Amino acid sequence: MSTHKILMLPGDGIGPEVMAETGRVIDWLNGQTGHSFETESDLVGGSAYDAHGEAISESAMDKAMAADAVLFGAVGGPKWDAVPYEKRPEAGLLRLRKDLDLFANLRPAICYPALASSSSLRPEVIEGLDILILRELTGGVYFGEPKEIVTLENGEKRAVDTQLYTTHEIERIARVAFEIARTRGNRVTSMEKRNVMRSGVLWHEVVSAVHKSEYSDVKLDHMLADAGGMQLVRWPKQFDVIVTDNLFGDMLSDVAAMLTGSLGMLPSASLGAPDEATGKRKAMYEPVHGSAPDIAGQGKANPIAMIASLAMCLRYSFGQGEAADLVEGAIADVLADGIVTADIAAKGQNAVSTGEMGQAIVKAMGKRAG
Ligand code: NAD
Repeated sequence: MSTHKILMLPGDGIGPEVMAETGRVIDWLNGQTGHSFETESDLVGGSAYDAHGEAISESAMDKAMAADAVLFGAVGGPKWDAVPYEKRPEAGLLRLRKDLDLFANLRPAICYPALASSSSLRPEVIEGLDILILRELTGGVYFGEPKEIVTLENGEKRAVDTQLYTTHEIERIARVAFEIARTRGNRVTSMEKRNVMRSGVLWHEVVSAVHKSEYSDVKLDHMLADAGGMQLVRWPKQFDVIVTDNLFGDMLSDVAAMLTGSLGMLPSASLGAPDEATGKRKAMYEPVHGSAPDIAGQGKANPIAMIASLAMCLRYSFGQGEAADLVEGAIADVLADGIVTADIAAKGQNAVSTGEMGQAIVKAMGKRAG
């Protein structure tokens, strides 16, 4: 049995509270046969700035580079609003994404039956929903050069952003999409705007070529990204894995996120390229939500997004699908028993604390494991 090294970076606000519950789940798994996780913690964000004057220290970065996976809580808060731009809490998160070269962002949208009535869509549209949006994270219009605002001779200003993708960048995200699809419903829908964008033409061409040469066992469809947005709210269950670029992925993943209700429920993963020698990918797992300063320190935070991020870590970094199923199944059991935190409580339903939710999930794991 190999030991997996996890670096925990709880961060600010509710980050440490939800990370503590994730630690509880890891401790439980470590008590079972077949699991061995070694964890260490460090500072990131505002708490790192307070301690070291930087949003992440070099030694924390070294630990992140050496870890098999990073679990990240959340950073930021009003306390650090006046911190210099390059030292702001988010700089720690951006440095991690950049230095670990995390180009693939995975956002599942799962609708637990017990929460189907809290979505803005009709329950039958989202009940049992289990889709995954894969967003290219390090290329495209957010990074392409030129990126500037220039003043023209007539005094008018002109702003330019550049949508830019190379074959290599599209190939590597397409491979992640097909690999993940093979572990799920075996279907990929690729979204771009090839009707109006040259980058969309290349995207379509390259995804099709990778599919034909390496993954013809996976079903591939193409959809224009605007139509994709519409289909996501019309009948989201038609999808399995959606792969798209940085800009469209940013928007489509937020749309998909809201299908399932609260921010406190949404995990995410960011993966890098496989190491040539070991085949292991650098990876970071984090809830979609922020540091929620409005409820920090009150025991009100929902730890499910963070715990479900650990489940993604088990599945995608450690190949432990069964353990991931156990964690996700326990979350579903707890919700089905009507155990909810304040953010997902229906009117008149009693809410449990962050710690009580963590305990309930661990207990449900124990029950499932027999
Ligand atoms: P937020 O996600 O922190 O909170 C939005 C709302 O959702 C708040 O009302 C909050 O109480 C609630 N909420 C969020 N997570 C919850 C949970 N787990 N359980 C229960 N309720 C939850 O977003 P915001 O208020 O816009 O930002 C607050 C701070 O977080 C800012 O400093 C922002 O820059 C930062 N932020 C960080 C990240 C990150 O670290 N990845 C992401 C988004 C925002």
